[in-house]
Amino acid sequence: TQFSDLGLAEPVLRALSHEGYATPTPIQAQAIPSLLEGKDLLGIAQTGTGKTAAFALPTLDRLSKSDKRTAPRHCRVLVLAPTRELAAQIGDSFRAYGRFTKTSVAVVVGGVAHGPQIKALAPGVDVLVATPGRLLDHIDAGKLSLAQVEVVVLDEADHMLDLGFLPPIRRIIKLLPKSRQNLFFSATMPTQIGQLAGDMLREPVKVSV
Ligand code: AMP
Repeated sequence: TQFSDLGLAEPVLRALSHEGYATPTPIQAQAIPSLLEGKDLLGIAQTGTGKTAAFALPTLDRLSKSDKRTAPRHCRVLVLAPTRELAAQIGDSFRAYGRFTKTSVAVVVGGVAHGPQIKALAPGVDVLVATPGRLLDHIDAGKLSLAQVEVVVLDEADHMLDLGFLPPIRRIIKLLPKSRQNLFFSATMPTQIGQLAGDMLREPVKVSV
């Protein structure tokens, strides 16, 4: 399989050539066609498998095909990550793969000043990558609404559990529109993560690498 066989939009394919990626990794080849159809996904995958591009590429494809970023303080794609470092990496990946699209990306994490993040959120963003606690801070302060989210990605769900993030995640999920696409990634499936996946996902495609 080649990236050009997967049905991705031209600006996304161009970014992949720019990155020097020749062929999709197994999780990319298996996940991307279903994600482009709007299906939910349960991905059992570790870091290093190319899982970030597996969710970033079809998401950017969707954004590049419809420019709807008009309302301020909304986001269309929400990615939840357990740590600052992972959130920053995911943000960098979206910027790299989205370099030939008009996608705007913001990263919102704890441990740093609120001000610059509030400024970044004010005009509205296409893709918001966040750690759960700081995301809720901004929502509670009225700086952000999740009412326009079309796609939500939960990355490293088992790591979220270890860090005690399940209660904030459940709060965040309740704030999302009912009709949306859900992408759920975890390296392992402890009971509580299986339950969360069951609650979040609707007839998911399962990919295990
Ligand atoms: P991840 O598992 O998402 O953390 O990705 C692991 C690494 O693989 C990252 O450094 C990516 O830049 C790289 N990568 C992802 N997809 C591909 C691909 N199809 N070809 C080559 N490298 C890739």
